[in-house]
Amino acid sequence: MTKQLFKIAVLQGDGIGAEVMDACIKVLERLLADQSRFGLSYIHAAGGAQHYAQTGTALPERTLRACEDADAILFGAMGLPHIRYPDGTEISPQLDLRKDLDLYAGVRPIRAIPGVPSVLADPRAAQIDFVLVREQSEGLFYGRLYPEKQPKADDSEAFDLGRISRKASERLFDFAFRLARRRKDANQAKGQVTCVDKANVLSSMAFFHKIYWERAKLYADIKASHCYVDAMALNLVKRPWDYDVVPTENQFGDILSDLAAGLIGGLGMSPSADIGDKHGLFQPSHGTAPDIAGLGKANPAAMILSAGMMLEWLGEKHGLSEACTEAARLRQAVDAAFGSGKIRSVESGGQDGTQAIAAAVISALGKKSGK
Ligand code: ATP
Repeated sequence: MTKQLFKIAVLQGDGIGAEVMDACIKVLERLLADQSRFGLSYIHAAGGAQHYAQTGTALPERTLRACEDADAILFGAMGLPHIRYPDGTEISPQLDLRKDLDLYAGVRPIRAIPGVPSVLADPRAAQIDFVLVREQSEGLFYGRLYPEKQPKADDSEAFDLGRISRKASERLFDFAFRLARRRKDANQAKGQVTCVDKANVLSSMAFFHKIYWERAKLYADIKASHCYVDAMALNLVKRPWDYDVVPTENQFGDILSDLAAGLIGGLGMSPSADIGDKHGLFQPSHGTAPDIAGLGKANPAAMILSAGMMLEWLGEKHGLSEACTEAARLRQAVDAAFGSGKIRSVESGGQDGTQAIAAAVISALGKKSGK
C-alpha cells in the first residue's frame, strides 16, 4: 500500500503565531509517527508584519504560490500593532489569502473541553458545542477586500462599503446546512441551524435573511431558526448550549467568535478553519498576542485543534478514513490532557505555557496508543 503524502504550506507568521506553530508541528509529528497510510510534508513560507517591515511585502508571491499548490495550509497568526500600512490599517495577509483562495466559510467550533474552566457558572456550560460559520468573502469587509470599490475617503469622512450577494449567501447557507447534517448524522448534534443577522434594520441584511429562508426549505431534515445579532450576543452568554450551527455575516462573525471563545476558556482554546471549494487554511482564532509574545505563555491548544480540523478536512476530501481517525485521536488527546486536571493555561489563570501544554498533549497521545 503506498503512503499518501500531503503537502502542507506552513505560515507561522508573527508574535505567538511562530510559538504555537512549533508546538503544533511537534504534536503532529508524534501523532503521525506510526501512521503508514499517509504523512505530511511541510513547506515553510514567509509572510506577515515583520516580513513587511523587512521587505515591504506582507505576502510574497512565492508564499501565495506555495499556498495554491499545497494540499492544505497551516497558518499561525500575522499582524503587529506597531507595523502598519500607510493608511493606518494593520498588516493582515490572512484577509488577502481568504480573497485569493476564495476561502468563503470561516468555521469556528466552540466546544467545551473537559477540565478547562468556564466563565459561566451554569453546569450546562460543559455541554457547549456549536459551530459559528462566518461569511468571509464580502459583508462589511467588502471594501477592505476590494479597495477599488470603496467610496473615496478624505479628512472629513470615511466609508466601509458592505455587500451581500445572492451567490455568496447561498453557498454560505448551503455550507451551514450540510455541516449541520454531518454533525447530526455523526450523532454529535441535534441538526439545527440558526442564522444571525440584523434584518430588522439593514436592507442588505434583510436580503441575507430572505435568502436564508429560501435555502432552509431545501434542507427539511434540519431545523432552521433565526436570531438578530444583538439578541445573539445576549443568548451566547445566557444559553450557548442551545446552538448547533450558526451562519452569519463577516463582521458579525468576527465579533461573535471572540465572544464565543471567551465561553470555553479563551482564544487559546478556539480553533478555526477557512474553507473554500478547493482550498483549506487552518489557524487558531487568536491573533499574534503581542502582550505575551516571547514569554512562552501562549496556549497552543487552538493551533493544535486547528491542525485536527485540517486532518479531518483532508480525510473527508480524499476519502481517507485514517486521516479522520487521527483527527479524532488528536482531539481526544487534547481533551485528556486538560481533563486530567494537571494542566491549566496561563489564560485560564494557571501556570502552564506553550511547552507544558504541548508536552501534556504528546503524553496523552502516547497513552492512547498504548506506547
Ligand atoms: P487580531 O485582531 O489579530 O485577531 P486580537 O485583537 O483578537 O488579534 P489577540 O492577539 O488574539 O488579539 O489577543 C487577544 C488577547 O487574548 C490578548 O490578551 C492575548 O494575550 C490573549 N491570547 C490570544 N491568544 C492566546 C493564546 N494562544 N494563549 C494565551 N493568550 C492568548
